[in-house]
Amino acid sequence: MKKSNKNQEVRKFDAEVAKVLNLVIHSLYTNKDIFLRELISNASDACDKRRFLAQSDTSLSADEYKISVKIDSKNKELIISDNGIGMSYDELLENLGTIAKSGTQAFLNELDKKDNVNLIGQFGVGFYSSFMVADKVTVKSRKAGEETAHQWQSKGDGEYTVEATEYEATGTEITLKLRKDAEEYLDKHRLSHIITTYSDHITIPVELIDEEGKPAQVNKGKALWMRPKSEITAEEYQQFYKSISHQVDKPFLTLHGKAEGKIEYTYLLFVPSMKPFDLYHPDRMRRVKLFVRRVFIAEDTVEIIPRWLRFLRGVVDSEDLPLNISRESLQANPLVEKIRKSITNKVLSELKKKAEKEPEEYAVFWKNFGPVLKEGLCETLDSKDPLLEVCRFYSSAGENITGVDDYISRMKPEQQDIYYLSGENLETLRTHPQIEGFVKRGIEVLFFTDTVDDFWVNVAHDYKGKKFKSVTRADIDLSDRDEKSEGKEEHKEMAPLIELFRKELGEKVKDVVISKKLESSPVCLGVAEGDMDIRMEKFLRENRQLPYASSKILEINPHHKLILALSEKGETQEVRDTINLLYDQALIIEGEAVQDLKGFSDRLNQLIEKSLAA
Ligand code: ADP
Ligand code: MG
Repeated sequence: MKKSNKNQEVRKFDAEVAKVLNLVIHSLYTNKDIFLRELISNASDACDKRRFLAQSDTSLSADEYKISVKIDSKNKELIISDNGIGMSYDELLENLGTIAKSGTQAFLNELDKKDNVNLIGQFGVGFYSSFMVADKVTVKSRKAGEETAHQWQSKGDGEYTVEATEYEATGTEITLKLRKDAEEYLDKHRLSHIITTYSDHITIPVELIDEEGKPAQVNKGKALWMRPKSEITAEEYQQFYKSISHQVDKPFLTLHGKAEGKIEYTYLLFVPSMKPFDLYHPDRMRRVKLFVRRVFIAEDTVEIIPRWLRFLRGVVDSEDLPLNISRESLQANPLVEKIRKSITNKVLSELKKKAEKEPEEYAVFWKNFGPVLKEGLCETLDSKDPLLEVCRFYSSAGENITGVDDYISRMKPEQQDIYYLSGENLETLRTHPQIEGFVKRGIEVLFFTDTVDDFWVNVAHDYKGKKFKSVTRADIDLSDRDEKSEGKEEHKEMAPLIELFRKELGEKVKDVVISKKLESSPVCLGVAEGDMDIRMEKFLRENRQLPYASSKILEINPHHKLILALSEKGETQEVRDTINLLYDQALIIEGEAVQDLKGFSDRLNQLIEKSLAA
């Protein structure tokens, strides 16, 4: 073995690490036990990594992977070692001197939000939690395939040292010099209890070596997901969820089962009840771990679940995928797509059951993850119907969210389309002029309040033979059959006024038409069939993907007092001003900016003056 020529260096921790360490050391009311869970989880990850690399480079393989926890009462030390991948000199600096990774970063994010020191106990903060029980931590490590070993050491006081060291084995050994108030962790029974509580599902055997050097395996060493459902306690599921997701909530849904037949795999998946902090983080689009016959393969890189189910946490363990190929070629393996489809169906059908059985709990789930699920409607039409079955929307029919199937069951006999209105604010939508005519006729309108709604509705046009149709479409005709047969809905008497509107507004509008849906408002903007919906257009403009607003159709309400009065007046300045005011009002209602602000306020002020003088 060659000795590295690195001399001892003293370095300072990153500011973030120092912050975490400070909290870890000075917070009193925390569950210290979790340091062991964190160290064992790191050791197990390291074994998984080495086993994975050994698939393609057999020189890296070990006969048997093992984690051991050794008690040294004389020196008041606890020594945790593994024969995993190990760390090189650079990796020691990078991994233990900066905050690069998931668990600890999640903790910091939560902390920023809540400023709650007690979170440490719930979270575990990875490697640094060892400083809860130790006043000196020494890490010796030799990376698989490398000749030299290095030592990292710190008292958790802002500095650490790194240097070359003698370490024969491959892997990592962590020595904790226990604090005075943490000597309880020299007790064999205590340790054994902690390991079975938190680390039972670890697939690598964990052995506890007592004072006399006698080893005993403590964990079952069997992947939790491979054990029969009936033998797993709620507590075991919860612990597993916690360790795999870094979340502290109780899962909303736990799906555990085995797919058999053409493709065979076992899944243990959780739907969190709390929104994970990284739900919209582009680097973290998938969080389900892929195993092949109990060997960990990948987390983010293989598309084992679709992006729009990225709130799922857990594992999928395939019996059929080959073990000895790279992650890239694994991604291209057609089996991966089959597994993905099969899991997607499973999850959607479970969500459907839950939505039907427990609508109130489902509403909370929907609030957290609905917008993510709906991304699926933009991406693929494969799962369109099962996806729309689990979608929920607010509607004009009541206070609560409703499903599209329920909407369809309430449709009027002659109604062909599923009507919706989209906009950011639910309260604005509920009183929007665009829906007046619908509400009066008892026709329900769905409210689309998420940005993603404007996108999917342009991709997934229909559901169960019914088209989704925005109420802003100018071709909607709500006038009833009697009016039509009498030819009343044509409103020929309005023709001169309409001409006046057209002349006055000119290029600003695409057309001016008689509205067949307005009730108590005088005007609204409408969109021609085939043109882009108002809110979608607005979104694209705000994101600079469209240069300017297209001109809209102005709909006027032939029954409205104001319009009736105007039609009797002829072409006066007053009428022309009112036409402009009405157009601006229609813009404002749609949340659009008024172009001629000076003209608008002048006209409004004149009107107010007049009414005050009267
Ligand atoms: P996390 O496990 O969430 O990444 P940790 O603070 O627990 O965060 O660990 C930081 C990093 O240190 C790990 O990602 C890993 O790269 C490295 N590491 C920690 N323990 C070991 C170990 N026993 N063997 C190899 N690498 C380790
Ligand atoms: Mg960790």
